[in-house]
Amino acid sequence: MKKIRSKLALLGGPKSVTLPEGDMFRWPIVTAEDEKAVLDVLRAGAMSGTPITKEFEREFRTWMGMKYSLGYCNGTSALHAAMWACGVGAGDEVICPSMTYWASCTSALSLGAAVNFADIDPDTLCIDPADIEHRIGPKTRAIMVVHYAGYPCDMDKIMRIARKHKVKVIEDVSHAQGGLYKGRMVGTFGDIAAMSLMAGKSFAIGEAGMMVTNNRDLYERCVAYGHYERTGLASTYNKADQQITSKELQQFSGVPLGGAKHRMNQTCSAMGRVQLKYYPKRIKEIQKAMNYFWDLLEGVPGLKAHRPPKKSGSTMAGWYAARGLYRAEELGGLPAAKFCEALRAEGVWTHPGTNSALHLHNVFHTADLFHMGKPTMIAFGQRDVRQGKGALPVSEGTSSTVIGIPWFKKYRPALIKQYAAAYRKVAEQAAALMG
Ligand SMILES: *Cc1c(COP(=O)(O)O)cnc(C)c1O
Repeated sequence: MKKIRSKLALLGGPKSVTLPEGDMFRWPIVTAEDEKAVLDVLRAGAMSGTPITKEFEREFRTWMGMKYSLGYCNGTSALHAAMWACGVGAGDEVICPSMTYWASCTSALSLGAAVNFADIDPDTLCIDPADIEHRIGPKTRAIMVVHYAGYPCDMDKIMRIARKHKVKVIEDVSHAQGGLYKGRMVGTFGDIAAMSLMAGKSFAIGEAGMMVTNNRDLYERCVAYGHYERTGLASTYNKADQQITSKELQQFSGVPLGGAKHRMNQTCSAMGRVQLKYYPKRIKEIQKAMNYFWDLLEGVPGLKAHRPPKKSGSTMAGWYAARGLYRAEELGGLPAAKFCEALRAEGVWTHPGTNSALHLHNVFHTADLFHMGKPTMIAFGQRDVRQGKGALPVSEGTSSTVIGIPWFKKYRPALIKQYAAAYRKVAEQAAALMG
């Protein structure tokens, strides 16, 4: 017998989502253990200069299986230092996907470098490996890759291109702490990785960031750039294995090369140590919940899961800023905005789109940071890599090809089923929303 379909809520029918959400979307999960750790910092009478950040750094790099790590006040500064460490300077170029949060690459401008934006792949929302190689020129120093919304970039292809041209790879892991690419953790493939640990992210501890690398030289350069108190050999604050050995850098001991102070707040370090203990288990539950949601929607027209193929060994980490791929052509051309409007009526808070394409922003066309009478994007370089409308169509088009989906933190099948039913209902009755 054919099931009788209920009318769309937007057209006066009953809502799909009726169960209370409870703490389904609450993040990060803060317990008495986090509270105690932060209070211990406050009560110690020393809110700076204790070893707590170094302990967090050590635990973090051990978890990732990396040799070196540095805590930062935010992800933006960690990425900035990583770029400088990789040799990005005036007149150089960095390749970065256009569709990402601005902090992935904007500090390249403050180093006097230009950003050569690449397009993204429409299914992964990560940098399209086929749009990288032709952008490499004599001044290209680094490729910045972003594991967008937790989806691991195609690191095999990216590393092959980078090694061939001797260009450094920086991984922006802000969305994907703990995610796997073919069984190995993201952030361990490139020359260096940097990430945000901000409150809104998957690994969330307030305002903080982290750099990890296996490259001693890059580590030392990051230290010298913004962790001045660790640069000197004489420092008792440093463990022997983390001391700066570069003679070139030692001469700058005591004053940061970047004029930057990049230290992590100790209350964040304290919370980070507690969060790290539970993070792997918590993202496992997120993955179980999100995969369950997408399994329920398998085969629904117009919708495609944003996740790597099963059995690929790749995962979506903490599934930060969960997204779904929307294919209007399978729904008679129904605009994503209308689809989301119908979903909101069903009780799902969602909007279309992602971060906006950066290559169209004025900062990458006209901003003159150095008062040189010309845009910084062309002030020092040998060529103009600015790009206009239409140049990177996938990055420019995500407001019609990507929609938000709920970021479940708990595996609660009854509630998840209601959310999936809402997406299915709107997709199956798309025709009623046309015309
Ligand atoms: C949030 C974010 C950053 C910046 O991190 P902050 O901690 O906010 O400075 C960098 N890259 C990406 C992709 C991000 O989402």
